[in-house]
Amino acid sequence: MQYPDSPFGGEVRHSKKPNKQNHKNPYFYIMTDVHNKQTRSYNMSRIKSKDTKPEMLVRRFLFANGFRYRLHDKKLPGKPDIVLPKYKTVIFINGCFWHGHENCKYFVVPKTRTEWWLDKINGNKANDKKNIKLLKSANWKVIQLFECALKPQKINATLDSIILKLK
Ligand SMILES: [Zn+2]
Repeated sequence: MQYPDSPFGGEVRHSKKPNKQNHKNPYFYIMTDVHNKQTRSYNMSRIKSKDTKPEMLVRRFLFANGFRYRLHDKKLPGKPDIVLPKYKTVIFINGCFWHGHENCKYFVVPKTRTEWWLDKINGNKANDKKNIKLLKSANWKVIQLFECALKPQKINATLDSIILKLK
């Protein structure tokens, strides 16, 4: 069963469909969590959130799990969306279209003014590359996320991978 307003949608489901046969069954409405205990604590912090903007999802998740950060630090190359000074890590959350996410269904080059769009997108990609290089050479760990990795089907794995990278 899908929950449209849930940022992690589709991962919680009723163990049984309500129907006449099982309505006397005490387990009638028990929710089944398909995740293991390890990821559940992370999930719980996400359930409360209704703001599904990709950056907000990552911010809320990090905050709920005890990570503290600065936002859009202008002093760093590329003005990273999230900066975790304690972990010397920055996170960029990039739109698939504007940052030309290769082999991604959300990156479709428009059929009109194609050259102009490609120019723009390739410019963004070149900037991303340059900024990441600068950050890495200053010993920053760089996590580059594309928005498609924060869609309901993928967000849990993505957020868990951030934790692994921060450890
Ligand atoms: Zn993408």
